Amino acid sequence: MKVTLLKAPVDRLTMAQAEERVAELVRGGGARRIITLNPEYLYRAVLGEPDLLELVHKADLVTADGEGIVWAGRVAGTPFPERVTGIDLMLRLVRRAAAEGWKVYLLGAAPGVAEEAAENLRRRHPGLQVAGTHHGYFKPDEEQRIVEDIKKTAPQLLFVALGAPAQEKWIDRNIERIGNVTAMGVGGSFDVIAG
Ligand code: UDP
Repeated sequence: MKVTLLKAPVDRLTMAQAEERVAELVRGGGARRIITLNPEYLYRAVLGEPDLLELVHKADLVTADGEGIVWAGRVAGTPFPERVTGIDLMLRLVRRAAAEGWKVYLLGAAPGVAEEAAENLRRRHPGLQVAGTHHGYFKPDEEQRIVEDIKKTAPQLLFVALGAPAQEKWIDRNIERIGNVTAMGVGGSFDVIAG
């Protein structure tokens, strides 16, 4: 069930249910999008950036990230069962990926950070298949090459850490060219995981 906050439909799911939803998306195939919606993104979407609101409507899963979103759900009389943040969901999905044999690709953060994050994740989950990594400080004319690289390595899950809303826009621009992938913006998560 969804609750619509300021015109943005948000899924009312626990973390465990969100993970199951993603598993369904991966199994179903195709280009799939996840947005973990925080108040900053929602304010911008509502206050004059309708393209951001459109991305929320296009997403296959929208989670309640941020206390402000959880609060708004409560006030609206349609409480969210819990907060589902980008980093928490990413860590759940990485664990699931290791168990299911899904490949993950890490795009974003400063040079070296995605590699280090991948290394830490592999240490935590032996057997995790990292399809590839790329830093997030590339020029627009390099984007095509990066998209080709991701497509070639064929990950089931693509984590994009470019900050919001750049990461959601990046996913929207490129996901159809990658094709069979479930993509999610994760903000500063790689920095946290890299430690
Ligand atoms: N970043 C990037 N390329 C850019 C700008 C930012 O890869 O051109 C990365 C940055 O290194 C950081 C992440 O995007 O790892 C943004 O983290 P932040 O916590 O600011 O994002 P938010 O959680 O606010 O969306």
